[in-house]
Amino acid sequence: MRKKYVYSFGGGKADGRADMKDLLGGKGANLAEMAGHKNLRLPVPPGFTITTEVCAYYFIRGGKYPSGLAEEIRAAMKKVEELMGKRFGATSDPLLVSVRSGARKSMPGMMETVLNVGLTEKTIPGLIQKTHNPRFAYDAYRRLITMYSDVVMEKAAGIEPKEGKGIRAHLEKILHSLKEEKKIQQDSDLKAEDLKKLCGLYKTEIKEVLGKEFPDDPHSQLWGAIGAVFASWNGKRAVAYRRIEGIPDEWGTAVNVQSMVFGNMGDSSSTGVAFTRNPGNGENQFYGEYLVNAQGEDVVAGIRTPAPINEYSQSEHNKRLPTLSRQDPKVYRQLEDIRHRLERHYKDMQDIEFTVEDGKLFMLQCRSGKRNGLAALKVAMEMVKEKLISKEEAVKRVAPSQVEELLHPIIDPKAEQNVKLLGKGLPAGPGGASGQIVFTSEEAVLWHKEGKRVILVREETNPEDVEGMRASEAILTSRGGMTSHAALVARGWGKCCIVGCADIEIDLSTKIMTVGNVTLKEGDWITLNGTRGRFYQDRLPMIDVTEENKLLNDFLKICDSFRSLKIRTNADTPSDAAKARSFGAEGIGLFRTEHMFYGKGSEEPLFRLRKMIVSKDVPERKKALEELFPYVKKDIKGTLAAMSGLPVTIRLLDPPLHEFVPQNKEQQEELAQSLGITKEELEKRAAGLRETNPMMGHRGVRLGITYPEVTEMQIRAVFEAAVELSQEGKKVFPEIMIPVICSVTELRHQAEITQRVYQEVLSQYKVSKIPHLFGTMIEVPRAALTADEIAPAADFFSFGTNDLTQMGFGFSRDDIGGFLPAYVGKKLLPDDPFQTIDEGGVGQLMAIAVSKGRSVKKNLKIGICGEHGGDPASIHFCHNVGMDYVSCSPYRVPIARLAAAQAALDSSETRKNKKKKE
Ligand code: PEP
Ligand code: MG
Repeated sequence: MRKKYVYSFGGGKADGRADMKDLLGGKGANLAEMAGHKNLRLPVPPGFTITTEVCAYYFIRGGKYPSGLAEEIRAAMKKVEELMGKRFGATSDPLLVSVRSGARKSMPGMMETVLNVGLTEKTIPGLIQKTHNPRFAYDAYRRLITMYSDVVMEKAAGIEPKEGKGIRAHLEKILHSLKEEKKIQQDSDLKAEDLKKLCGLYKTEIKEVLGKEFPDDPHSQLWGAIGAVFASWNGKRAVAYRRIEGIPDEWGTAVNVQSMVFGNMGDSSSTGVAFTRNPGNGENQFYGEYLVNAQGEDVVAGIRTPAPINEYSQSEHNKRLPTLSRQDPKVYRQLEDIRHRLERHYKDMQDIEFTVEDGKLFMLQCRSGKRNGLAALKVAMEMVKEKLISKEEAVKRVAPSQVEELLHPIIDPKAEQNVKLLGKGLPAGPGGASGQIVFTSEEAVLWHKEGKRVILVREETNPEDVEGMRASEAILTSRGGMTSHAALVARGWGKCCIVGCADIEIDLSTKIMTVGNVTLKEGDWITLNGTRGRFYQDRLPMIDVTEENKLLNDFLKICDSFRSLKIRTNADTPSDAAKARSFGAEGIGLFRTEHMFYGKGSEEPLFRLRKMIVSKDVPERKKALEELFPYVKKDIKGTLAAMSGLPVTIRLLDPPLHEFVPQNKEQQEELAQSLGITKEELEKRAAGLRETNPMMGHRGVRLGITYPEVTEMQIRAVFEAAVELSQEGKKVFPEIMIPVICSVTELRHQAEITQRVYQEVLSQYKVSKIPHLFGTMIEVPRAALTADEIAPAADFFSFGTNDLTQMGFGFSRDDIGGFLPAYVGKKLLPDDPFQTIDEGGVGQLMAIAVSKGRSVKKNLKIGICGEHGGDPASIHFCHNVGMDYVSCSPYRVPIARLAAAQAALDSSETRKNKKKKE
């Protein structure tokens, strides 16, 4: 059978379905579902969708279409004509259509749209005759000419005029001078004859600037618009957005051709967008905005302040505008009914677009609504309560990045109470953020690169600003509503954002903004409370609220009931350990003992470590170690106590030795004095420690091999700390971990020392047992490959994927900045392998180690403690490869709990599907 390229919808029927997003795009699939599904059959203007496969064909064949497409389009248009009782291109009551993009995943505002296609000098009289409204007809024509010349004749033709010099700007200039000539302010004051004249002037200008006539033929317009929408898939904005969102280039967009309905036919017409629940906080309340006498694009563009659809949607900014529920109760009730039907059908919060044409409601779009972390959590948890979805489904609904959002800091409420409010707007993105003001996206990107925290302040944002928005801590706009571009994008990213702060005036030429009588310039600090829509001058302190978030805790408990991976944390201090524990960590997977030699309070132990490092012989070193011992023991004891009842993996020292040699004169002198040697002698010893490639040098277990007394001191500290704590009634489970081994012989060497010291401590404290484990990191490829030899000597393995990636790729982990971005940018690597496990290479080494290790020791405990342990995609891999636990930084513990649950659900689903197939 020949491939079908065009799918019709309308009149209670549809060729497509909601689950055909890959082929029809999100918009097309949902239009089909709304129009044709027996539970819905909503009033959708008839139309058809041209598939994403045509888009792929179009790009592979240099802008050509598959044979048979034209025929299918003709037939589909005929169906639309029949349903509408109108003909495309007819001189009386002509059918007009919109031509819109629609990819598999929503890319708001990134691709092109052309409205009112089919309007020509010949069809205009027919529209006037039908509507008795020449002003409306010429206004529609003017919009078509503007959009078409911009989208089809300029952008799609590859013309790239300088900023502000495009055809749209030319046409706007003409409009402006006509308004000046007529001494009017608003576009709406233009009369029919003015608009008619304007259309003529526009066409002449287009011919002059672009060297081509505006096509006054409906079919040329239709094909031009279809081609331009396909072409816009590879437009600059769309490509930039795909890079950020990780959307593959191969997906392509579908094109939706749909009969026009007009929200701008007078005061009984309107257009709006709404969410079936509040996307800002998840409350089960209908939430939306609408504009009387306007076309859909006007709402999203944020040019006029939209009115609330009901009282619940009222804000400071729109509370004086009439609600739809008051203005047109019949339409509002119908919309409310559709809201409930859509939620029951899709079992998810929906984002809808509607148009009312002369009192008649039409649905133009519905899709699963973007929501911030707070709303995602609330909607999921409430839908479980409402029995709309299962607990499993709730876990799948919340993205790990959304949980991360909830972990973001907020402004310290006490500080917030005590400062003067600078201004208010709509709360479009949650949390608090402080930053320096910048007024352009370019600046945001540049300042961010310099390591500065910036807040992008704009009148409104548009898709060209996405990279700057990304680089900013938060976004603040003076115009637009909750559905403006800034709000949509920020909500999608969970970024702090306030929109529609009408009191802000921006002067781009002087880079100054004023709010009331306060003037701020570029670089000044401000602080935003995106949850409440308030902002303040200067920098306010932030706090963290996660621990008190009951909803999140309840949700994470549900996650815990599905996951099989244990979640541990990488913590080096008792306070980090306590924090991680409050987030639900079930132990410490990596306690890096070197931590005590950095930062606050490190002077004394560091001095002794330095003594130890530059010691010339065993007696000197032993003396230094004796002095160091109490510090190490105290440090270990503190963390073991904070994690009482839970296991703590203590890794033996893995220090880059040269880093600890003092660089400044005074410290060198003090050290020399303490060792009773000359400065010259100290310099000589320090020079002897210098390495060409310290990451591959005298580190990890190698230190314990050359200086066994260093291992001995640490093992003694661990056992003594453990006994003393258990004598205080604490339950402690130390797990001693040896770093950077490449061979079982190294591990055996260290095991012998461990055993000897263990026996000594037992008799010293007169106890018979100290519960503990002895294991190793697997972070050198040779260790992974010889895991079956190593496993008999280890109770556990923990993958150090930072080093394993470094040594697997041969990429120095400290020097990747110079080349890795190019690898990712040129797509030589799909991701940064230091963030997400490279399954094909490093992942294989891990899989080999797991399988070889368990082949000789069935119950070998295996975990991961490299950075990847907190990365959701890597956690999936760890689950699939059969690990027992992942360990990550304290703030990633909640994310890991969710990711581990999702991994478990995914694999049980895969198993079920496999069984079904068999
Ligand atoms: C690792 O290599 O993954 C690891 C956890 O150890 P470190 O980062 O301290 O080398
Ligand atoms: Mg390491």
